[in-house]
Amino acid sequence: MFIDVHAHLDLLKGLDKIISECKKKKIAVISQGINPETNRRVLSFAKKYENVKAAIGIYPDEVLKLNDKAISDELKFIEKNKGNISAIGEIGLDSTYKNMEKQKEVFEKLVKIAIKTDKPVIIHSRKAELETIDILEKLKCEKVIMHCFSGNKKLVERVIKNKWYLSISSNVKYNLQFQENVKSCPMEQLLCETDSPFLSPDKKFPNTPLKVIESYKKIAEIKKLSLTKVESIIYNNYVELIR
Ligand SMILES: [Zn+2]
Repeated sequence: MFIDVHAHLDLLKGLDKIISECKKKKIAVISQGINPETNRRVLSFAKKYENVKAAIGIYPDEVLKLNDKAISDELKFIEKNKGNISAIGEIGLDSTYKNMEKQKEVFEKLVKIAIKTDKPVIIHSRKAELETIDILEKLKCEKVIMHCFSGNKKLVERVIKNKWYLSISSNVKYNLQFQENVKSCPMEQLLCETDSPFLSPDKKFPNTPLKVIESYKKIAEIKKLSLTKVESIIYNNYVELIR
């Protein structure tokens, strides 16, 4: 079984066909919500498809679009749906958007819900890797998946030391920094993703969860393991963390 721990299925056309293709190829997907609307769509996908699971959250940029009442309603909605989700995501910090203080305030609340409900967090940390790690450490968050992590080597080491997970996107096929991350990270702390419809390994749009296999292949090549071995270790990682 292959797992794509981070995809945005709501952005894909022809989803029925893609998901049945995934099923044939033994691929399961965790679809990410980023705001009230997509959170509800993702929950409906998880109900509809047996190989799709839901992660719901509030994405940094979406935090800035919602008023305080909408944010507190959504936080309640997320906690209430703890039985219907595999993780809380996509959440985090992004310094390419404004108002980091507001982002941090809501991010901390989301992480606290994850700790309280014993769910992993799926983390976006673009150009805010250090601040994101600082908050997760401060709150003693243990179940952490760093999606598309682009922090420097020192920060990668901190992620590893914290026993968190790096989720390797399918564009690792050509992205040298992600290849370095695979080299530095123990097999037991790796997961795979596509970030579909983004980050295609063929530099085409859209990417789909079917391409998650490219992450597995590159990891096998870098770690000098068979594809079957990589598949089984990553499946174990997923089961230990998420189930
Ligand atoms: Zn994403």
